[in-house]
Amino acid sequence: MMRFRKRVALVTGAGSGIGRAVALRLAREGAILVLVDQAEAGLMETEGALPEDTESLRRVMDVSDESAVESLVNDVIRTYGQIDVLCNNAGISGKHPPITEQDRQEWDRILSVNLIGPMLFIKHVAPHMQARRLGSIVNTASVAGIRSGAGGNAYSASKAGVINLTQTAACDLGGDNVRVNAVCPGLIETGMTQPIFDYARANEKAHKLGSRCELRRYGAPEEIAAAILFLASDDASYITGQALPVDGGNTAS
Ligand code: NAD
Repeated sequence: MMRFRKRVALVTGAGSGIGRAVALRLAREGAILVLVDQAEAGLMETEGALPEDTESLRRVMDVSDESAVESLVNDVIRTYGQIDVLCNNAGISGKHPPITEQDRQEWDRILSVNLIGPMLFIKHVAPHMQARRLGSIVNTASVAGIRSGAGGNAYSASKAGVINLTQTAACDLGGDNVRVNAVCPGLIETGMTQPIFDYARANEKAHKLGSRCELRRYGAPEEIAAAILFLASDDASYITGQALPVDGGNTAS
């Protein structure tokens, strides 16, 4: 399948986990990639894993820095003339203290990266999609944005915000044929969740990971990437404003 041949796809958080899996799959389906991450080593590793003929541009930056977002978008438009797909995927989980012990700066940091970052990318990328009446945006939210307990309070609030941002942006942009959707992953083994997996394995509790999902297992980054690519592609041409749980049935019960 080559659903993204010659399409320009910008992926944030492409230096690890789900973002890397999205980048690899987009490349296999013919996309030109713009890879964004604050971690240069991770980005280079992702680039090294791409098929040899992949055209790609890499940018080390913080997704919550508006001037960096603006300058990247200008550079991409100068280089490729268009952005067809935006995957707002970079995120951090932070610490999970009870609300009475929540540190204000930590709360701000998590909201900045997880919610303000996607807002800034939509703000600066969408006008270029609107002008061509073509574009698809997919945000990585979380099951933690649907129900509490799956993350800390700042993380959960940020991801609930991402789901709402998805709906409001879909309403603002739908008239120009720009779709905006989200995926809500359950527990996936990535850099972000490695401490959970390391702890569980060290304490012979690995079998419990994902046991509360209907499929009785945790997920792989590639399973989230498959859903992100579906929503980003023309296969989802009549879907917008939706938040799709990809969680082994965790939110079904
Ligand atoms: P990860 O830590 O493996 O990857 C996240 C990437 O984002 C990293 O490469 C990191 O350097 C980058 N990043 C973090 N802050 C950044 C910033 N300010 N600017 C630029 N890049 C930044 O984690 P992952 O699990 O692949 O996370 C991807 C997305 O999936 C996140 O939005 C996360 O909240 C979401 N998610 C993950 C899980 C899970 O179980 N792993 C579950 C639900 C949702």
